[in-house]
Amino acid sequence: MFLTRIRHKRTFSAVWLLSLVFWLCGVAYLRHERSTQERLQLAGQIHAQEVAWQAVTTAHRTAMQAYFDSYIMQPDVAAILQAAQVDNRERQNIERVRLYRRLAPVYEQLRQRDVRQLHFHTPGNRSFLRFHSPHNSGDSLVASRPSVVEVNRTRKPVFGFETGRVIIGFRNVLPIIWQGQHLGSVELSQPFEAVRKGLHDLDPAKDYLLLLKASILLPKLFDEHKKHYAPSLFSQEWLVEDPRRELPDSSPPLSPASQKVYQRIKDDKTFSRLLAAGNPGAVAISLDGRMYQVSLIPLHDTDGVSSAVMLTFSQAPELEGLYSSYRANLLLFSMMVLFGGTALYLFLSSMQTVLEQEQRLALITSNIADGVYVMDKEGRITFSNHRATEILGFTQQELSGTIAHDLFHRHDGANHTLLEECPIYQVIQTRGRYEGEEQFINKAGSLLTVQVASQPMLKGGRVVGSVTVFRDITEQKLLEEQLRLMSVTDPLTGVYNRRFLQETLLKELYRAERHGDPFSLIMLDLDHFKRINDSYGHEAGDRVLRHVVTLIQKRIRSSDCLARWGGEEFMLLLPHTPLAAANALAETLLLDLREAEVSGIGRVSASFGVTTGQPGDTVERLEQRADALMYAAKQAGRNCVRSGAA
Ligand code: GH3
Ligand code: MG
Ligand code: MG
Repeated sequence: MFLTRIRHKRTFSAVWLLSLVFWLCGVAYLRHERSTQERLQLAGQIHAQEVAWQAVTTAHRTAMQAYFDSYIMQPDVAAILQAAQVDNRERQNIERVRLYRRLAPVYEQLRQRDVRQLHFHTPGNRSFLRFHSPHNSGDSLVASRPSVVEVNRTRKPVFGFETGRVIIGFRNVLPIIWQGQHLGSVELSQPFEAVRKGLHDLDPAKDYLLLLKASILLPKLFDEHKKHYAPSLFSQEWLVEDPRRELPDSSPPLSPASQKVYQRIKDDKTFSRLLAAGNPGAVAISLDGRMYQVSLIPLHDTDGVSSAVMLTFSQAPELEGLYSSYRANLLLFSMMVLFGGTALYLFLSSMQTVLEQEQRLALITSNIADGVYVMDKEGRITFSNHRATEILGFTQQELSGTIAHDLFHRHDGANHTLLEECPIYQVIQTRGRYEGEEQFINKAGSLLTVQVASQPMLKGGRVVGSVTVFRDITEQKLLEEQLRLMSVTDPLTGVYNRRFLQETLLKELYRAERHGDPFSLIMLDLDHFKRINDSYGHEAGDRVLRHVVTLIQKRIRSSDCLARWGGEEFMLLLPHTPLAAANALAETLLLDLREAEVSGIGRVSASFGVTTGQPGDTVERLEQRADALMYAAKQAGRNCVRSGAA
């Protein structure tokens, strides 16, 4: 439905595809950014967890060293151990009982401080006295307790995590060297719970879970202790300690939220990979609209074997912020692409519409006889047809983008008119039509008279420009002017004809009346002209007429009007001229005629009637008066002037 309304389907598809590609790139970038931030956040979490672990275990180790120094490295304890260094079981049993009695109160005290095992070993790596199981001694620890073997060999303490036959936890094994004599070693062990408590004190919001590797733990454990371990949710390979919380040192159960996360990560592929790889790592989990993170720290036995991992469960509000800003950015970006794509489509399709319109216009106007050009709102030419280029001499490229008013429009031959005052441009501002004659100048510099019709172009009620149609009427105008001149001119002499003088006289009458400005009229008739025709022929008569005109024209002003009134009669209208001046002019002309000789004919004379305009005069009365005065001159013997105002 929507698609059928789309006019430019190819443009739509292209813009859609472009937007999709752009959107996909943007989404990929945003996801990449989010996962980078998430990785950084999780790496920070792992690091924080490792630091906390180090801090707590270091504090415990320091405490164990202090207990060792103050309770065990005592002369009487050393004396008992020295006495036990014999190869006599009876003797050893006596010393074992003495040692037990001596340190039983200390053991009770240490138990209050989370020490679970106090275990003395012989220099030959056999159990000498287990305070938690005093009757169980003499067994070899070589296979199950590498740390004991290590300490007795190097005589240096070993601190660290280690699985064992009874306890899994932190084993602090210290060599007992009294006055240079190696008396064996002693172990002060703490369960995992002691460290968990320390971590919990640092950050109570977190939950911890210890996972133990079955393949390493089970062969070491005494059979009666195996019941305290059960497979974790992950696999049979990973065990959890005391799931039913039967032992006194059991860790409290996970919080309900951590429990849910625990259930969830059992199927998480990333987490399974982390667990299998045995490297520190962390995963982010989204559950019930909240974010959690689970970090994993592998724990290595004192001999370097990776035997357990500690999982830390915690809420991750930073990741929630990260995800919500990712969602907001994604939404914002999608909207931007949507709006951008729509805007691009609208822009391109409007461009295409304009292009189509111009193509249509070009097709329609290519064969018409008139020039056509389209202007935008700024007066720039956006389209011109072939005929326009022919008339103006500019190519379409030269016209395109230029302001018509500046390039070829002329007002009174120059172009000092502002664009805003140009009648063609005003069509855009007034939304009105304009028709009229204008002057254009072509590329060669010739001024053309053009008939112009300009009309605004509307789009959605808005003026977007105008269309101007123009026709070159320069020649037509010249022809009209020639015809007009012919209609007012006497063909033989080139001076005005009678009709023109009569029209001019009428205007002069009005003008003089309005301004109180005098004007005069001279009528002259050649004397005995008929004889010239008769004697020399009609041609010669014509020559005489032209000769007389030339003489008169030399004496008159450009504002004076000379007309051939009849056969050999002339009328001279003199604006701004009182009677006396007109009379003087007539006398001058009389003399001029007398003096000038027409070749082959001789001199000619004329009779002059001179009058001037009076209030209440009409054209006829003036003509009659001049005629009457001229006639009076004839009567007076010709070749003279007669003048009068009335
Ligand atoms: P008057 O002194 O009384 O004016 O005598 P006139 O002979 O000049 O006057 P008339 O009216 O008897 O003659 C005028 C002559 O002018 C008659 C005519 O043939 C001649 N004429 C009129 N128009 C033309 C013209 O265009 N060319 C020539 N050559 N002669 C013309
Ligand atoms: Mg005459
Ligand atoms: Mg005459």
